Amino acid sequence: MGMLIYLNGKLLPEEEAKISVFDRGLLYGDGIFEGIRIYDGRIFKLDEHIERLYFSAKAIMLEAPLNFYDMKNAIIQTVRSNKLKDGYIRLLVTRGSGDLGLNPARCKIPTLVIIASKIALYPESLYEKGLDVITASTRRNLPESVNPAIKSLNYLNNIMAKIEANNAGVPEALLLNQEGFVSECTGENIFIAAGKTVITPPVSAGVLCGITRSAIKDICSRLNIEFRETNFTRYDIFNADEAFLSGTAAEIVPVVSLDKRIIGNGKPGEITKSITREFRLLTRTDGVPVYE
Ligand code: PMP
Repeated sequence: MGMLIYLNGKLLPEEEAKISVFDRGLLYGDGIFEGIRIYDGRIFKLDEHIERLYFSAKAIMLEAPLNFYDMKNAIIQTVRSNKLKDGYIRLLVTRGSGDLGLNPARCKIPTLVIIASKIALYPESLYEKGLDVITASTRRNLPESVNPAIKSLNYLNNIMAKIEANNAGVPEALLLNQEGFVSECTGENIFIAAGKTVITPPVSAGVLCGITRSAIKDICSRLNIEFRETNFTRYDIFNADEAFLSGTAAEIVPVVSLDKRIIGNGKPGEITKSITREFRLLTRTDGVPVYE
């Protein structure tokens, strides 16, 4: 049996889960989404993801079709009916379908889709070796435009940067903001480490307030590693001892070079490794159980 997809209150076989060509998610990227992991039958940081979805919705004046409790149940039901133990959930809400005009006033019924499936972002070898990264010429969009803190369906900016990475033959690209400070990579937050300090750009630099990023902050406090949110530049990455990225799909992945400058000794560093170990433990012990 194929996958079951939640679409507007119904669990449908994948072939039947279709949305209108007039859906604003398609026509204008007018919507929001979340990516959530399932580890060993538990949904990791589910409440945090739903909360961020509501924050995104509020910022774009979109009313989510379900309340928190029903949203949580719909997600759990979707995972359960697909019998997934380990996987990835894509949750998205669009403003629904209207006509071809830009004005959203006529869209009354949002579209809600929940897909419970699998994801593998990078091959395992890259986690062991670390990533080579380039700086994209595409800048992160301004917080005064569509704020990068909103996890909107408008990812074209990030996709442009990813195309630059593909063209350069590397797996990931770094985006700077308009001031030239580091913001994040195409789908991951970035961190540098030196001594016993981990630094990541503040949300005001134009980054998504990553849920993995928050988990790393907690882990640092447990490991007695100082965690700071400070603006920094490419120069600081070139000269850091270590660098790594975090995201729900990517988890924690070491970065070993930026624009051909080798970071540290060119291998995944000890701080990165110890945070990764703690993160793996957390993902195996924390989370909302689906089958209990
Ligand atoms: N930044 C961007 C642009 C993202 O799309 C994501 C999510 N893939 C992240 C950072 C990481 O956020 P999280 O840890 O919540 O997945």
